[in-house]
Amino acid sequence: MVAVDKGQKNRKILLDSIRTARKYKMLLALMIGMSVSACATMPDTAALQGTLAKASDGIRGGFGKLKEKASGSGNNSNNNAALITNQFPSNEVPHTLLKKPLAEGRLTSGHGFRFSPTGVPIPKKHKGIDYAAPAGTPIYAAGDGVIVKHYVSKSYGNYVRIEHENGFYTAYAHMQAFVEGQGVGTIVKKGEMIGAVGSTGRSSGPHLHYELIHGNNFIDPLFEIAPEEQQASVK
Ligand SMILES: [Zn+2]
Repeated sequence: MVAVDKGQKNRKILLDSIRTARKYKMLLALMIGMSVSACATMPDTAALQGTLAKASDGIRGGFGKLKEKASGSGNNSNNNAALITNQFPSNEVPHTLLKKPLAEGRLTSGHGFRFSPTGVPIPKKHKGIDYAAPAGTPIYAAGDGVIVKHYVSKSYGNYVRIEHENGFYTAYAHMQAFVEGQGVGTIVKKGEMIGAVGSTGRSSGPHLHYELIHGNNFIDPLFEIAPEEQQASVK
């Protein structure tokens, strides 16, 4: 019994020393791998580099998943529109907001997936709706609220975002100009002018890009109107 135990102990010591030797070999391979990037005589280096590559793939995969999750949660639209808007009485925001917050205009692009107007041949999510209108056409606040964003964006051009009741926001993009005296913190009334139609930012022609936002959700501003009525109401 004692002899067997001793043998096992010796075997353990041997295994430990092999493990230690392997560790040093790997460390050595790593050091050589750092100084000589490509070396056919160092299979351990190749194996190690393979492991490192796998690890970075895993990291990249993780980021991919995170990104996917982030964009997914921030881009819910039509499916959630009824769920969100039905939570509020019909005499309150978002139901009381203007569907068409400009003096005149024609609906040219609805909410949801579409092909990018800038020529990118991939289906792109449209976070708002577009009303084509002559440059200079007055744009109105869709409801009572306070301006929370008021700046020039590379893609959205002259951009205004208004916070309304019940956690809703409306946003207005590509405007030709802002209204003098308005800025972040300005309280606006429903129907008050907040800008004029333009083609600033990434835009193919004068139009208003209009968004309705609640939390992370971009909701179709025409959420209540059936597709047939939609066309009739914006003609
Ligand atoms: Zn748009």
